[in-house]
Amino acid sequence: MKRILITGGAGFLGSHLCDRFIKEGYHVIAMDNLITGDLRNIEHLFKLEHFEFYHHDVSKFIHVPGELDYILHFASPASPIDYLKIPIQTLKVGSLGIHNCLGLARVKGARVLIASTSEVYGDPLVHPQTEDYWGHVNPVGPRGVYDEAKRFQEAMTMAYHTYHGVETRIVRIFNTYGPRMRLNDGRVLPAFIGQALRGEDITIFGDGSQTRSFCYVDDLVEGIYRLLLSDHAQPVNIGNPAEITISQFAEEIIKLTGTDQKVVYLDLPKDDPKQRQPDITKAKAILGWEPKIDRAEGLQRTYAYFKAFSRERLYEEAIHREF
Ligand code: UDP
Repeated sequence: MKRILITGGAGFLGSHLCDRFIKEGYHVIAMDNLITGDLRNIEHLFKLEHFEFYHHDVSKFIHVPGELDYILHFASPASPIDYLKIPIQTLKVGSLGIHNCLGLARVKGARVLIASTSEVYGDPLVHPQTEDYWGHVNPVGPRGVYDEAKRFQEAMTMAYHTYHGVETRIVRIFNTYGPRMRLNDGRVLPAFIGQALRGEDITIFGDGSQTRSFCYVDDLVEGIYRLLLSDHAQPVNIGNPAEITISQFAEEIIKLTGTDQKVVYLDLPKDDPKQRQPDITKAKAILGWEPKIDRAEGLQRTYAYFKAFSRERLYEEAIHREF
């Protein structure tokens, strides 16, 4: 039986990856310090014989007994609100955290896959973004702590690959959505759906002309699974190229939820990227992967998940977390 360590295993993406690797017959060890993760995302796995949970901060020395075949490094705050509130932890998990994972991988002979991000392209001057674009990042702006942590993480991973011969994979994840996003993480989809469910105004930042391309979580997980098992060490974009403006996205959520609340326009956060769309030519060619779930279907599924929340939970999660 293959054994896999998933850091950030109680988070949005980490928990979906735990589900997938359990389904594939792996022994899964999830690690999370629960700063932004939530045990509710993995509580259904606790009863399984081949699932373990370590409550641990990956930025500190990690010890995992026994063999390990794979390590997925998915621990990190990942929304602008989170990494603005905990900038130092964000930098540490992308630097010290990956260093610990790579050191562990070396000892165990494990393959490492790291969660990188479209944020390595910054506010991109090339559109759509291809993997060979080096990006347009402000290191000292508010997003710098996340963007540079992820860029450092890629560099460190590549160094372990070339210098120590560790098997490594790098996925550049574009905006992804689905069940288990945190309602209070500030990202646009949980923000809009939460507002609709609580009967609040829908908040568009800026004039809403900025674009994003949203990928449903199951598609992303499939791409990551294929990349892990591939032999490709260079970065690969995984995302859904269907690009829309945030105004159009708000319209879709308003239609989906039937909310009669008004749209209000707030200030655009500093360095908010104007456009973002993955070029997935490489993923198609190397992994035979492309997204299968369109936005209409993905949004239905996601809305069904949040609609089932109790009123208490809708309000409990309305307030931004204090860390
Ligand atoms: N956004 C918005 N209203 C909100 C939250 C976000 O208009 O209540 C915008 C945000 O300014 C950005 C886009 O939606 O242009 C996506 O934001 P998100 O935080 O989800 O992801 P990222 O900016 O990292 O792509």
